[in-house]
Amino acid sequence: MHEHELRAEYAPAVESQDDPLAADLGPVRNWHMVRDAETTAMCGRELRRRAAVKPESDWGRTRERCCHTCGALYLREVPFLHEVP
Ligand SMILES: [Zn+2]
Repeated sequence: MHEHELRAEYAPAVESQDDPLAADLGPVRNWHMVRDAETTAMCGRELRRRAAVKPESDWGRTRERCCHTCGALYLREVPFLHEVP
């Protein structure tokens, strides 16, 4: 059984001559699902090691969009997560 969590994909950061480090992480564009704290999403996208993470229970409840491909794969792997026992 895998541990899952959400990991953020960032929009391209705005170029900043003054402080490139501060501009490194832009706004969150998409949330992806990763297994076992990896940085590769289930859909195959490489995500940053420093990207924000959220618990898997936040899937579908974030302000930003969630990756459809990750969602389909995730629900196939954990089909009963949101069902009441
Ligand atoms: Zn994804």
